[in-house]
Amino acid sequence: MKYLSEYRDAQLVRAVMDEISRTIHQPWVIMEICGGQTHSIMKYGLEQLLPADVELVHGPGCPVCVTSLEMIDKALAIASLPNVIFTSYGDMLRVPGSSGDLFSVRATGGDVRVVYSSLDAIKIAQENPDKQVVFFAIGFETTAPANAMSVIQAHNLGLENFSLLVSHVRVPPAMHAILGSPSSRVQGFLAAGHVCSVMGFWEYPSIAEKYNVPITITGFEPLDIAQGILLTIRQLENGSHAVENAYARVVTFDGNRPAQKTIRQVFEDCAQAWRGIGMIPLSGWRLKDEFSNYDATNRFQVQSIKPSESQLCIAGQILQGLKKPVNCPAYATQCTPEHPLGATMVSSEGACAAYYRYGRSQ
Ligand code: SF4
Repeated sequence: MKYLSEYRDAQLVRAVMDEISRTIHQPWVIMEICGGQTHSIMKYGLEQLLPADVELVHGPGCPVCVTSLEMIDKALAIASLPNVIFTSYGDMLRVPGSSGDLFSVRATGGDVRVVYSSLDAIKIAQENPDKQVVFFAIGFETTAPANAMSVIQAHNLGLENFSLLVSHVRVPPAMHAILGSPSSRVQGFLAAGHVCSVMGFWEYPSIAEKYNVPITITGFEPLDIAQGILLTIRQLENGSHAVENAYARVVTFDGNRPAQKTIRQVFEDCAQAWRGIGMIPLSGWRLKDEFSNYDATNRFQVQSIKPSESQLCIAGQILQGLKKPVNCPAYATQCTPEHPLGATMVSSEGACAAYYRYGRSQ
């Protein structure tokens, strides 16, 4: 197939759903890792088309949702400083920190600007040599290459007024953390196609082997997701646990090696805090020592911040597949997109936002 419309063809999707119904003989719980996949599932009503024995739970693959509260609070503190231009993806502006969000900082005079990439922030730094320009470098493996490239570019340009507030997260350690938990319900994974387009899937066979869990690399269109579920169910029913690539039009085993090399040039692995989940070993990237002068936490005094999370928000349990947004007592009552208590209700990839937007009440 060549055209997007073919991946949204209702008859083709129904044919795959029928095949899933013929294949399945017992209940299975499958996690789609990526928030973009969660939104597609809700938008196209795929859950309603699936047999009742397939339960989809939603994973931690929303970069805005898992950015730690401490890091949001650091962003608020830096953005409030005079002489700072704080740049960020638009989704981050409404994410609640311990006391307010980046919009509220902007409303009180902070210079907070929405950009589409860290390379836009470089341009702003060049145009404003008398200001410190900070980019909020959040995200998974997909955004890391451009952020690494911005550091290399700043270095080559000799830019001294540019830095990153880094909060990168990596998918494979999160899969280990979810599967290694005694409370895990996940029996199969739909892996995030965008992340795999950069990183390939050479890290996944050892995960599938260790936890006896099939993993299917899956895209984002309805037919992609239906096929990903079918391949995962086939394996679960057969008792196998291999890695299959159902997104071969985009993903290769090796991934984008030059992009991986750029990441490795600038970043190194580190333990990373995930909002609502906690610290996961080796699940983040931080700037290497040779680039530490581009680290905003070294440039500004924000080390002593103590975050305070909403006691109502259960987003951490949702992001681990333990609960669904409708299980949250605040869902659609105290917590709405207009008045969010947690990041999963704000982000365009958040599970709570997906349920709310597409009218899910169960
Ligand atoms: S509905 Fe709101 S409070 Fe509840 S888990 Fe989602 S973001 Fe948190």
